[in-house]
Amino acid sequence: MHSFNPPLRTLMGPGPSDIHPRVLSAMARPTIGHLDPAFVGMMDEVKEMLKYAFQTENALTMPISAPGSAGMEACFVNLVEPGDKVIVCINGVFGMRMQENVERFGGEAIIVSDEWGTAVTTSKVEAACKAHPDAKIVAFVHAETSTGAASDAKTICKIAQDHGCLTIVDAVTSLGGIELRVDEWGIDAIYSGTQKCMSCVPGLSPISFNERALDKVRNRATKVPSWFLDLNLVMGYWGAGAKRAYHHTAPVNTLYALHESLVMLTDEGLENAWARHATNHQQLKTGLEAMGIKFVVDEKDRLPQLNTIWVPEGVDEAAVRTTLLNDYNLEIGAGLGALAGKVWRIGLMGESSKREKVLFCLAALKEVLGK
Ligand SMILES: *Cc1c(COP(=O)(O)O)cnc(C)c1O
Repeated sequence: MHSFNPPLRTLMGPGPSDIHPRVLSAMARPTIGHLDPAFVGMMDEVKEMLKYAFQTENALTMPISAPGSAGMEACFVNLVEPGDKVIVCINGVFGMRMQENVERFGGEAIIVSDEWGTAVTTSKVEAACKAHPDAKIVAFVHAETSTGAASDAKTICKIAQDHGCLTIVDAVTSLGGIELRVDEWGIDAIYSGTQKCMSCVPGLSPISFNERALDKVRNRATKVPSWFLDLNLVMGYWGAGAKRAYHHTAPVNTLYALHESLVMLTDEGLENAWARHATNHQQLKTGLEAMGIKFVVDEKDRLPQLNTIWVPEGVDEAAVRTTLLNDYNLEIGAGLGALAGKVWRIGLMGESSKREKVLFCLAALKEVLGK
């Protein structure tokens, strides 16, 4: 056996995305105890900077020590009680996982269905709220990574509020990449991931809960069925003024990485980061259209950070990805579910959303398709 030295790739798929050397080197700093006062001080800064990234004042804003899927599960396991009706919007893979979460925790999922590649239709959400006045929660994906469609989070949250529902929002691919305002839009519970537009390593899931959501957690009739994700317990470790009692060993070095990536985001400015994602998307779009390649998602619903494009007629989808990986060290994504074999997904997320990387991707794709 020898040490593992990964190849040097450019990551332009659906995540993980490229990571800045500053973030990687932060991870290599000495490990200290997770209850060390120096570490606790760093955790407080992580929470402060996450509040900025989410645009919230929520005291309960913190990273769960596991990937985005665990943040998803944390939201559903804490907020869904047996028998609760939850309106779940499905327009891709991650909405389907929300339904799975609701049902596993004893809730009843009311499905609002939209075609893959389109946004959630807000009038359908409104109709579902009207048809089910006893619904407790509306859950939807802000940025559907499986298709590249963005949904109107602001409007969906307004509809949910008007009908007395809490909202659970999947912001794994939206945080840091497109406009997202937790407090202004009235989002009650939200989860994200670190390896998409946050330019950080995989393995952490930032979440934020407001007081309305926490009231539901505190007033549950039954215990949260997951010990690890029970926010009543997690708050004792991460919470404001908490005594930092031992709950689990925090992934110390991974949190150094998140701290560094948040320092970089703060330096750049959140709105500048959104603008950078938009600009690089335009650059990619111009180049792809010049090659005659078409987008799956309508222009008005397109995510700048996840570009789903039709594979040209007669082209072997998988062979192109393999050549890009082997000959160019470039990773792009394949299609999922209904779109498998028909599309590519080009991610321009976080550190991968750079002008020179867009130009490299276009040149590589053009060369491979030309052969
Ligand atoms: C990637 C992703 C997830 C899951 O995150 P993991 O870190 O892979 O567990 C959930 N929702 C969306 C929209 C995603 O893109």
